[in-house]
Amino acid sequence: MKHIPNWPQFDETEAEAVAAVVRSGNWWRGAYDSPEGNPTGETGAVQQFERAVADLHGAAYGLAVSSGTMALDIAVRALGIGPGDEVITTAYSYVATATCILQSGATPVFADLNPDTWNLDPGAVRRAITQKTRAIILVHFAGLPVDMDALLEIAKEHDLYVIEDAAHAFGAEWRGRKVGAIGHIGCFSFQGSKNLTTGEGGAIVTNDETLATRCRSLHMAGRVIGGAWYDHERLGWNGRMTEFQAAIGLVQLQRFPDQQQRREANARRLAAGLAEVPGISVQTEPGEDGVHGRHLFCFRYEKDQFGGLSHKRMYMALRAAGLPVLTGYGRPIYHNDVFAEFDAVEWAERCPNAEQLCTSGFWLHHAVLLAEPAEIDELVEAMKGVKARYHKEKPQRTV
Ligand SMILES: *Cc1c(COP(=O)(O)O)cnc(C)c1O
Repeated sequence: MKHIPNWPQFDETEAEAVAAVVRSGNWWRGAYDSPEGNPTGETGAVQQFERAVADLHGAAYGLAVSSGTMALDIAVRALGIGPGDEVITTAYSYVATATCILQSGATPVFADLNPDTWNLDPGAVRRAITQKTRAIILVHFAGLPVDMDALLEIAKEHDLYVIEDAAHAFGAEWRGRKVGAIGHIGCFSFQGSKNLTTGEGGAIVTNDETLATRCRSLHMAGRVIGGAWYDHERLGWNGRMTEFQAAIGLVQLQRFPDQQQRREANARRLAAGLAEVPGISVQTEPGEDGVHGRHLFCFRYEKDQFGGLSHKRMYMALRAAGLPVLTGYGRPIYHNDVFAEFDAVEWAERCPNAEQLCTSGFWLHHAVLLAEPAEIDELVEAMKGVKARYHKEKPQRTV
């Protein structure tokens, strides 16, 4: 691929939206949130944005925050999870999926994933449950919806909370329901690389009023919601989104449906093309069960089918052929020094599939899926070229 489509996509509309916020002089949500500051009852950009995000996902409550990391930190704390509690999550994700557990003083427990879906394996989650387990944090990896029926059943059986890390899955669906609003709390990220971006930013969605109020309080220094401004009842953060970010988000929301349609069509085209290449396994397609969020296009390769090329060499071969792949996470989360107090060797033994994906998986960023269909076909041809070049037939035995 000669030219990867630019990301983010924007024009003067975003510039104008930000300029309008500048000119208004109301740069933060407080300018609209407090009745004294906003006697006319005008709706600010952050208020509009969080409402739109909640509506899009069929959630009763939405809260815009400063990042996806902040959303996760708040979600765990809002559920009252703390020291002595265990939270089960995946080891193949961005670090914030698990550091939110440490931030609350609880103990992370990593369960392995299914190498075809790249999502938590319900069986592995079940085996990881102990008397101390309080919650499951699942990731709809790359945008592929997790089997929510299986996970919710486990959660119900063991009385566990379900937090959806939907940072990859804005707009994705599981059996007719938008992800993020299926479990107890859903978290989104609008950081620069995500499918809907405000530069930095995040959101929390939930259908539970008590949780929604707690999250709102936690994101504004533990304030008493509806109380006096300097009245604080819990330990919180300043996790507020600015009016500038939300103004951009509102414009990006308009662009989102067309972009997703394009990503969806190209991802299907690419998946169908790559399915013809032996030794390449594309992440499972949701099929009838849902709608993929298309944040990443993921596949793994079988070394033996590519002349024994190492992950690094395969990366170089793919890049040289014009496939703008990324190698993804270099190692499962628990190998980061921030988890040094836990036994990484034991986790590695429990999560062979997560370990394996780090040395066999590749990603394409969603911007690639915004290219022309003809360029997607070129990617398939490039892969076939790599295959032809490196695949070595096993020597035939001669009689
Ligand atoms: C991006 C991301 C986050 C964190 O979002 P930030 O906005 O960067 O803090 C959390 N989880 C996953 C899976 C992500 O990809």
